[in-house]
Amino acid sequence: METVLSGIRPTGNLHLGNYFGAVKNFVKMQHKNKCFFFIADYHSLTTHPTPADLHEGVKNVLAEYLACGLDPDVATIYIQSDIPEIPELYLLLNMIAYKGELERTASFKEKIRKQPENVNAGLLTYPVLMAADILIHRSHKVPVGKDQEQHLEMARKIARRFNSMFKTDWFPEPKAYNFGEELIKIPGLDGSGKMGKSEGNGIYLIEEPKSIRKKIMRAVTDSGPTEKNQTMPDSIQNLFTIMNAVSEQETIDFFRDKYNNCEIRYGDLKKQLAEDVINFTEPIREKILEIKSDSAYLQRVVNQGAEQARESAKKTIDEVRRIIGFKPF
Ligand code: AMP
Repeated sequence: METVLSGIRPTGNLHLGNYFGAVKNFVKMQHKNKCFFFIADYHSLTTHPTPADLHEGVKNVLAEYLACGLDPDVATIYIQSDIPEIPELYLLLNMIAYKGELERTASFKEKIRKQPENVNAGLLTYPVLMAADILIHRSHKVPVGKDQEQHLEMARKIARRFNSMFKTDWFPEPKAYNFGEELIKIPGLDGSGKMGKSEGNGIYLIEEPKSIRKKIMRAVTDSGPTEKNQTMPDSIQNLFTIMNAVSEQETIDFFRDKYNNCEIRYGDLKKQLAEDVINFTEPIREKILEIKSDSAYLQRVVNQGAEQARESAKKTIDEVRRIIGFKPF
């Protein structure tokens, strides 16, 4: 069985894009592989969150992922900072990661542009910490979005470099996990690009029905089709893309036909879409609230995850120490 690892930054809440683009697939993936899901709280320190925000963020993501169906009895779910073997491997890998290559990564250059007042060393070595996250379990596969491809390449490079420097094959070269079907991209409600946290155009799993209705009713549309079977403009296609994810086929066909016959009323479409989104999110929202209020359960989950993850991490780090030459007298 292949070992698959995925990390989640504890910032913000999960939106429909995260669910349909990632989490839904993770829920399936956990039954087919040996999966590790971790909350990347060390990574989030690069932006200097307050202690309260850091803790709340970790609790949120954990509760949301559990509510979506990640199962702590099937996969290993843990918090990065509970595993001291990760920073140890990070330190060791930092010795074979070079300043020049780290400075050249696209994400580092982007961060320099976005937060010039806080270009810390953690930001520069972010890909090394990510390599440590992956290699600590000798993972074979990592599901990555486009923005993380370069980081995965860096993890591969570091694994190869370690192996060749110490004449070993201890680290497998991690590859991108392919879900085997085309990934759905959920668009935002503002008629542009994708739904995202920073774009402010998201519908969140934790969102109250009233607020969801309001957002969807305000979504950008146009003045309607004037010819039969006309190609849809992006703003309308976007509503249908979300509908495809949450509604019954019958509903989708009904509104598509209305559009194609120039009989569509966007108000009706949006009302239906809002109800279907709420039908989808409401049970998850209730579950999130229930899990979040049960601190004892959350603690049990992270303790169990930490124990399992440390067992795997210790095996790796013990061997790495031996390979490098740390030995008892
Ligand atoms: P982010 O919240 O941007 O860190 O995204 C975490 C993961 O969720 C990404 O790597 C994607 O797999 C997925 N994701 C985020 N936004 C979308 C979206 N609008 N549509 C589909 N998948 C998304």
